[in-house]
Amino acid sequence: MREEDKCSFCGMPRKRVKLLITGMSGCICDNCARQAIEIIDQTEQQEAKSLVSGSKLNSFKPKAIKEYLDQYVIGQDEAKKYLSVAVYNHYKRLTQDKSADDGVEIEKSNIIMVGDTGTGKTLLARTIAKLLDVPFTIVDATVFTEAGYVGEDIESILTRLLQVADYNVPLAERGIVFIDEIDKIARKGDNPSITRDVSGEGVQQGLLKLLEGSIVNVPPQGGRKHPEQKMIAVNTKDILFICGGAFDGIKSKIARRLNSQVVGYNSAKDRDAIDFNNLLQYIAPQDLKSFGLIPEIIGRLPVLTYLQPLDREALHRILIEPKNSLIKQYTKLFAVDGIELTVNDDVIDYIVDKAVEYKIGARGLRSICETIFMEKMYSMPSSKSKKLVVDLEYAKTQFEAVGKTRLLQA
Ligand code: ADP
Repeated sequence: MREEDKCSFCGMPRKRVKLLITGMSGCICDNCARQAIEIIDQTEQQEAKSLVSGSKLNSFKPKAIKEYLDQYVIGQDEAKKYLSVAVYNHYKRLTQDKSADDGVEIEKSNIIMVGDTGTGKTLLARTIAKLLDVPFTIVDATVFTEAGYVGEDIESILTRLLQVADYNVPLAERGIVFIDEIDKIARKGDNPSITRDVSGEGVQQGLLKLLEGSIVNVPPQGGRKHPEQKMIAVNTKDILFICGGAFDGIKSKIARRLNSQVVGYNSAKDRDAIDFNNLLQYIAPQDLKSFGLIPEIIGRLPVLTYLQPLDREALHRILIEPKNSLIKQYTKLFAVDGIELTVNDDVIDYIVDKAVEYKIGARGLRSICETIFMEKMYSMPSSKSKKLVVDLEYAKTQFEAVGKTRLLQA
């Protein structure tokens, strides 16, 4: 160390600065080093912003987003509209000119989707992810536990986002996270002190921190935090959270609330107007509270929407209509071997019948198809025949032989 050293950037001599870092052929003082970090940060922020603003989605208005979703997801118009608007607004928020000094800052609107399992919540999230070019990840709330217990720390949600953003922090800070099975972290019962509620309220408190927007230290490799691990600081202020859950049992809570609301003069008429077969459409924030979500979390998920149960017609359409419908997928699988597949209409009806009969919904369509096509997928590639017509009789035989027992066991 020599007294006559000075900063190669500002020229200050060593004795007039707090710290002078010496390099191979020059020095930098603490002031200039700090400025350099600021310049790097600003450049990265700028890069991430231009990536987002130059993204395809800028040219997509909510209607266009919904039309895109329509190609892959059947029905669920209400949820599609809510999602389209929320995602569009998210982009507006990210690209808004923060220098415009009008004091108006658009707040983010995290979303919560409630719907029976297998009605398309994850499919909606996945489909929208395909359209976007901001980092997007799907995480399952069931794996999270309170810090100190077996399971993953809530911060690891952000690890996934960092990974898909290739550890570009400013880019990850503008991403979208889909949290599936949010209902599984609801408080069990009204008195949490009886047993330690490892996966309940404590996890909700942890999640709240992320939803609210705060700077979170994230373990870059995920899993549990440990003292020696280097953490990455991520600001969640601009991350959009979409939550989904089946909320089993919430319908009775909705019904109870509706029943208690329709008392008095017009009660009979009001009650008649309620469609008790599809109660989810009346879902309100207080139902989430009675289910066991803490009010603070509900407050941070201001956009609440629902998914319809799938009826026969919807299941029928799901089999054939979407861009990558199951029947289109099997047709493609056979086409790879040069085999032309025809599935008769009554077979489609039969598959729907079985899905309804065994109450396995849209998720079950795939396993029913699998049992029907299995034998042919095994034998046809080695045979000379290049045409396959699946008729009702064949479908029935296959399903009765294997599928039925399997589905009965499930
Ligand atoms: P959830 O997340 O609501 O439990 P998923 O989105 O995972 O349900 O749905 C399971 C599967 O069922 C999907 O992969 C898809 O094949 C099919 N499916 C469910 N709902 C729909 C829908 N509305 N339109 C098209 N396919 C659907």
